[in-house]
Formats: sequence, C-alpha cells, structure tokens
Amino acid sequence: MPLLEVRNLTKIFTIGNVFSRKKVIAVDNISFDVEESEIFTIAGESGCGKTTTAKIILGFEEATSGEIVYKGKRIDHIHHRERRELLKEMQAVFQNPFSTFNPLRKVDRYFYETLYNLGIADTKEKADEIIKEKLAAVGISFEEFVEKYPNEFSGGQLQRISIARALLTNPSILIADEPVSMVDASLRMSIVNLFKDLKDKYGVSVVYITHDLTTAYYISDRIAIMFRGSIVEIGPAEKVLMEPRHPYTQLLKESVPEPDPNRKWNTRINLSETEQSEYLRQGCKFSGRCPKAMEICKRESPPYFDVGGVKVKCFLYKD
Ligand code: SF4
Repeated sequence: MPLLEVRNLTKIFTIGNVFSRKKVIAVDNISFDVEESEIFTIAGESGCGKTTTAKIILGFEEATSGEIVYKGKRIDHIHHRERRELLKEMQAVFQNPFSTFNPLRKVDRYFYETLYNLGIADTKEKADEIIKEKLAAVGISFEEFVEKYPNEFSGGQLQRISIARALLTNPSILIADEPVSMVDASLRMSIVNLFKDLKDKYGVSVVYITHDLTTAYYISDRIAIMFRGSIVEIGPAEKVLMEPRHPYTQLLKESVPEPDPNRKWNTRINLSETEQSEYLRQGCKFSGRCPKAMEICKRESPPYFDVGGVKVKCFLYKD
C-alpha cells in the first residue's frame, strides 16, 4: 500500500470580477502515489498547480473533487482534531524560512513548545536530547542554535533549522514547497541533499515541489511534470529527465524557470494573462506553444500513453 495516494484530484477557482467571471481548473484530475521512503517530485513553472496540490494534501485548501488517501485512509474531509494529529505525521517545509518564525521570538522557543504541547517531551533534559538529535541530522549544533533570534541565522541555516523543527514529531512524510529557492545558490544542493539523508536515516518520504529540474534530478526517485493543472509526464526521475518524452518537459529541461518571489501561501490564485489563456485553452493546453502540435491537439485533450514505463499525456505517443 502506498503511503500517500492522490486520486483524481481537481481544484477549480473562479477568477475575474462580477462582469467577467471565469472558471480555471487549477488542478485537473491528477493522480499519483508516494511510497514509503521515497522522494517524489512535482515540478513545473509557477502557476502550474503544484503548490495548490501541496496545500490540498496538507488540508490548507479544499479540493473541488478527488481523494487524498494516507496510509489507506481518506484524509480530505477529516475533523479538525484528526487533522492536528495527522500534521504530526505529515509536516510542511516552506519556501521562506524567515516567514516561518516570528522575528521577535527566539527560534528555540518553537522547538520546546512543540515538544511540550504535543507530549513528546516532559522534561527539559528530554527536550534538549531530541532537539540535539534533530539539529545534528540537519548539520546544526545545539550551541549555535540556542537563545537566538531568526535574524541571527543565515537563510541556509534557518532553512536547515525549519527542517529540524519539522522532524520533531518524527513525521512519515515531508511536503517541501520550493524549500531552497530563497537560499543562496551555492548552498542549495547541500540543503536539497539533506532530504536524501533524511530519507536514508529516518525512512521519511518527501514530496519535493520545485521549478528546478537540476536539484530534482539529484534527489528524486520519481517525478511528475505539471503544466497548467495537469500532470503531463510521470515516471522514474532518471528516465523522465534524461530522455524527456513530452514536448513541455523537453522545453522545461532547456529553460531555467524562476520561482515567483512574491508568491505567498495564503493568497488566492493569481495568474498572468498567458497563464489564464493556457488554462482556458481547448484540447491540449500546451498546443499554443508546442512545436509538434497537430490538428487533434487543438480539439481534444490527450490521454496518457505508457512509453517505456513513463506515462506521457501527449498525442505523439498514440499507437
Ligand atoms: Fe504537443 Fe499535441 Fe503533444 Fe500537446 S498533445 S504536447 S500539442 S504534440
């Protein structure tokens, strides 16, 4: 049984004003599984639906339809109390570590609070022992961590600390949304590699959400490429990234898309005009930019075709 199953997930947003309302299918009937001890990546440009998918998995956003199943149990409509329990097992790591912590509060306070409030430690000695272990797992010493405010750390250190904090509850799965895009480029790889280390050390699974195929290539077991709400290609990371089949994956591999620095988790969908027109396009949503587009692509949405163990949503692979 997979650890996490996303089945036919769909999220529809209404955009525009009272005079011109339009429905945008931000996540369009996507399905994938995440196995135990697996790094599963969802990659694509900003506005492809990957963050909306993460929010729905974590219960921060409601799906329009579809199911999220964790350890064989549906979790998309659970009670608030059950959700709190579940969030111990399913932890999030966000893009900007500085927005995770209050600048006026010492960072260690969050750690002790989590351990005491969730009943994981009942003495300072026990709490210190757990904190030291989790900090060591992310390469931070206890001495450099205690009694400090967020601004006393670099972005890279603070992101490591926010990963250590996510580990306090011994989660089975981390949902990491662009966790290194705001970290200095020279440090990105070392932080991304941390996820691989954590998978080996604790058996934790990771849903890694990124625009960056290079980091994805190094750490992912499997990858799903998203474009305008759909998964267009999904399979083993090595196969998808070394021999991309879908014209969009081929384009993405050649370009280096940038993350959106203004993106916030608590804001509604905000699409550019091009993104909107692609979301509303008939047939294959990539047909306006695809160098291999055919007549059928403009009329019909392609189904998935199995190409050597990779599922590709493209008419080029019909037959
Ligand atoms: Fe291009 Fe057609 Fe494939 Fe879409 S279905 S990616 S337009 S060839």
